[in-house]
Amino acid sequence: MNIYERLGVTPKINAATTYTVLGGSLMPEEVLEAMHQASKNFIDMHELQQKAGEHIAGVTKNEAAYITSGCASAIVLSMLALSTKGDLRQIGRLINDDLPEAEVIVQTGHRIPYDPALALGGVKIVEVGDAIQTFPWQVEAAINEKTKGIFFVAGSHLEHATLPLEEIMKIASNYEIPVVVDAAAQLPPVENLWHFSQDLGADLVLFSGGKALRGPQSSGLIVGKKHWIEAVRQNGAPFQRQARALKVGKEEIAGLVAAVERFMNLDHASELKRHADIVQFWLSNLKQGVIAQKDDLNEAGQPVPRVMVKVGNALQLVEKLKSSNPSIEVVHNSRDKIWISPDCIQENEAEIVVNTLNQLL
Ligand SMILES: *Cc1c(COP(=O)(O)O)cnc(C)c1O
Repeated sequence: MNIYERLGVTPKINAATTYTVLGGSLMPEEVLEAMHQASKNFIDMHELQQKAGEHIAGVTKNEAAYITSGCASAIVLSMLALSTKGDLRQIGRLINDDLPEAEVIVQTGHRIPYDPALALGGVKIVEVGDAIQTFPWQVEAAINEKTKGIFFVAGSHLEHATLPLEEIMKIASNYEIPVVVDAAAQLPPVENLWHFSQDLGADLVLFSGGKALRGPQSSGLIVGKKHWIEAVRQNGAPFQRQARALKVGKEEIAGLVAAVERFMNLDHASELKRHADIVQFWLSNLKQGVIAQKDDLNEAGQPVPRVMVKVGNALQLVEKLKSSNPSIEVVHNSRDKIWISPDCIQENEAEIVVNTLNQLL
């Protein structure tokens, strides 16, 4: 019996995407092998974090990098970095809850379910703009002596109501405040590993390690300017400071290094073709009368194609898919549509997904 059988936990087919609640992603052999190797020795965690960061920075064409226990951790750590600048006296005041109030500017269209991590990082959100639009003067009007930086969420699905990063970078540079970009789920394309930081000049850029990178589920990555990465480091484990609670282990660090190397060397065109082939297979095998269409972007606005299926009652169908055997998970944020995505589909599962759907529809 494997561990899930022993615990009585039901394995699922993931036709949704790299959702944390479903286990993120599955680690390839080279990632598991790196974790296994790392588990065999004691090392100095400061040295491992430093050298793994330098290695990843080199591989991803960045100035500096730091490994976290997830992108939400990376949000907390980057806010601690902004508030303290890595100055130990400031870190001491932060621990004593004795720092003056710190603010971070966020466009309303960038309010996301993950932003409680900003509060955990000790900053107050100052919202600018609204659900329809945002103007540069609104961002400028929000800047004051408490402003520690601007938090920007990347993704084409959030662009309609917000200023682009280029515009935000211009304002930030005029007022000399740093910009932190949450790019958690913006891989692929692989270029995003350096695009926001190197091409557009963002100070810190944050990624999940356990989504498309297929690193350990509890890993994340910060890339960016060297002095800001150093400020992050001063707040993090193994130091016994604020973010000690967000410790990342030697195995996760090793796994993320291997995952980033793999992702850099991956044949992304053939990966896209594999996804497109599954999408095509689904479209041609859904039974007659089902209304379905290909979407070229996924729920995070990434270039990962998927299939939208029109249904009578989405909630009901989702429950039926969950309780079918094997259990199937799909994306559902609409009353009358579901989406099935190819990126987490394993061998032989595409067929099970379409057959089950045909039975239930
Ligand atoms: C997934 C996600 C996060 C959280 O990342 P974890 O690695 O799960 O901690 C933060 N921000 C965005 C935009 C995300 O999609």
